[in-house]
Amino acid sequence: MALNPHTTEREFSGVPGALAITLGLPVLLFGLALVCNEHYSLEGVRLDWAAVSKQIPANWHEWHRLAFDRQCWMAYLAWFFLLVALAYILPGKHRQGVPLRDGLRLSYNINGMAMLGSLLALLAARLWQLAGAADPSRRFYLAELDFLYQHQLQLVLVTIIFLFALAVFVYVLLFVPLATPNHSPNEGERRQRVLLVNGNTGNPIYDWFIGRELNPRLGFWDVKMFCELRPGMLLWLLINLSCVHEQFHHQRALGGVLDSVVLITLLQAFYIFDGVLNEEGCLTMMDTTTDGFGFMLSFGDLAWVPWAYTLQARYVALPQNRVNLGAAAIAAIVALHFVGYYIFHLANTEKLLFRQGKLDHLKLDQIKTPTGSRLLCDGWWAKSQHINYFGDWLIGWLWCLPTGFQTPLTYFYVVYFALLLIHRQVRDSAKCREKYGALWQEYERRVPYKIVPWVY
Ligand code: NDP
Repeated sequence: MALNPHTTEREFSGVPGALAITLGLPVLLFGLALVCNEHYSLEGVRLDWAAVSKQIPANWHEWHRLAFDRQCWMAYLAWFFLLVALAYILPGKHRQGVPLRDGLRLSYNINGMAMLGSLLALLAARLWQLAGAADPSRRFYLAELDFLYQHQLQLVLVTIIFLFALAVFVYVLLFVPLATPNHSPNEGERRQRVLLVNGNTGNPIYDWFIGRELNPRLGFWDVKMFCELRPGMLLWLLINLSCVHEQFHHQRALGGVLDSVVLITLLQAFYIFDGVLNEEGCLTMMDTTTDGFGFMLSFGDLAWVPWAYTLQARYVALPQNRVNLGAAAIAAIVALHFVGYYIFHLANTEKLLFRQGKLDHLKLDQIKTPTGSRLLCDGWWAKSQHINYFGDWLIGWLWCLPTGFQTPLTYFYVVYFALLLIHRQVRDSAKCREKYGALWQEYERRVPYKIVPWVY
C-alpha cells in the first residue's frame, strides 16, 4: 500500500464546506467579540444591531486600523515567538509519539509545564515588583494585562490573520524537500513526508483547510504539537486573568472583583493546568495521530480556544453584567465541577495507562486487534465509547453557570462543545471501523453508548 494514498472522500462537504467554514468561523468569532465588550454587551436575546454596527469598521481604512494595530501585532508576535523559543530552551521529558505509517516515531520535548511555570513566575515577579508602588492605584497594576483587556477586538483580528498565515506557511513547507537524514536520529531513514489520510486530495483549498502533512516540523519545532497547548491555551489563561485585573483596578467603585469572574478563572485555570500537566496524553490524541495542521486546527488552537472559551469571564467582567454568586452557589458549582473532572481525568488516564500496558495486572475486559492496539471494554470505558467526552462536557456546564442566567450567550460554549464532541465521535467511529473492521463492531456491541451512558 502507498505511504500517502490519494484521498477520495472529503469531509465537511468538500471545497464548498471548507470555504464556508474558513469564512464563517472568523466572522462568528469576531461577532462574539462584538456582542461582549465594553461598548456593547448582549442583554437576554435582544440584539441591538445599531450598537453592534457602530463598532464595525465602515471602510477599508478603519478595517486596516483595527486589524493591523502595530502594538497589537508586536505584542502577539512577541508572545508567539517567545513561546517557540521557550519550547526549544526549556528542559522537558523526551517522549516518542505513536508509530507513523512509515513505521517511524517522532520524538517530542514535553516541557509545557516548565513553560507554564515560567509564565506564572514572571507574572508573580511583576506583581511583587509592583506591590510597593508609591501610587496606590498602580499597586499590582500590570500594564500587559490591561493592554490585553483593552484591545480585545484588535487582538481577535490579529490572531485570525496570523493563523491564516501560519496555515499557509505550513502548507507551503510541504513542498520543501526533506533533508536526509532528517532532523533527529530516530527520523534518520525518513525520506518522504507522511501526509494526512484525508488531506491528500490534490485540491489546494481543501488540503490547506484540513491540513496536508500529519506532523509539520521546522527543525526542532513541531508546529502542531506546539500550537495544541501553548499559544492558545496560555493566552486563554491570560485573558481570564485580565478580566480579574480589570475588575480589581477599574471597578473599585462598584465593589471590585466579584466571585463569579474569580471562579470561572480558577475552574478554567485548573483545566488548563491539567491539560498542560498531561501534555504527554496529546501524543495519542486524535489531533496528533490523525488530524492535520491546516486552517481548521490552526483556527481552533490559536483563535477559538483563547477567544471563544473566555466569553464567560469576559461577559461577567463587564460592569453591567457583574454577578455575585455567594458561598452556597460556589460550593455547588465546585462540587459538580469535580464530578465532571473526576470522570474526564480518570477516563483519559485509564486509557493512557492501559495502552502503555501499565494496567495489565488488572486483567481488564478488552478486545485484542491484529494491529497490536487493544480496545478497553472495562472500567470507565465500559460505560460509553467516549465517557471522557461526557466528563469534559459536564465541566463546560460548570464554566457557564457562574455567569447566571442573564443571556444564553454565555451558554454558547456548551452548545458548541456538544456539537464538536458529537462530530468528533462520529469521525472517530468511522476511523476505528475502518481500522478494526469486525472487531470494532464487536466493541460497539459490548459498549453500546457513544458518549452519555443510557442516553446517546
Ligand atoms: P479519545 O481519547 O476518546 O481517543 C479516541 C482514540 O482512542 C480512538 O481513535 C482509538 O485510537 C482509541 N480508542 C478508542 N476506544 C478505545 C478503547 N476502548 N480502548 C483503548 N483505546 C481506544 O478522543 P480524543 O483524542 O478525541 O480526545 C481526548 C480528550 O481531549 C477527551 O477527553 C476530549 O474530551 C478532550 N478534547 C477537548 C477539546 C476541547 O476543545 N476542550 C477538543 C477535543 C478533545 P487508536 O487508533 O489508537 O485505537
